[in-house]
Amino acid sequence: KKSISDEVVKAQTAKPIEDTIFGKIARKEIKVDLLHEDDQCVAFHDVNKQAPTHFLVIPKEPIPQLSACTSSNEKLLGHLLIVAAQVAKKQGLADDGYRLVINNGRNACQSVYHLHIHVLGGRQLDWPPG
Ligand code: C5P
Repeated sequence: KKSISDEVVKAQTAKPIEDTIFGKIARKEIKVDLLHEDDQCVAFHDVNKQAPTHFLVIPKEPIPQLSACTSSNEKLLGHLLIVAAQVAKKQGLADDGYRLVINNGRNACQSVYHLHIHVLGGRQLDWPPG
């Protein structure tokens, strides 16, 4: 298991850049199993899962982070939340519950600068997060 300091180092060296690995996934240049796809977003399992079920919902539009969003993104952001809940239900997480996380910027350990919602479930999650 990776230590928090690895995550912190990775996040602190990550720079907002135009193209990211998630841009490539959204454009299907990198093939991953998609749990969901529509005209606005895709969902797929996180490669380094932090819970028995851990998937990401990302917009196809390469918005770098939540703080870059404006009111023009309201509909998209609402859609991402609805999709997160629908995929969570399909993954069997609805009864016991699950958590959504958006890491925004360095202090939150954001490492990929393409907006993404983490959805974690399948075990009892601690609070507060680290
Ligand atoms: O919120 P943060 O930017 O830290 O999260 C990025 C997430 O993307 C990590 O959980 C990492 O495991 C995941 N990832 C992935 N596939 C990649 C690169 C990163 O699922 N190819």
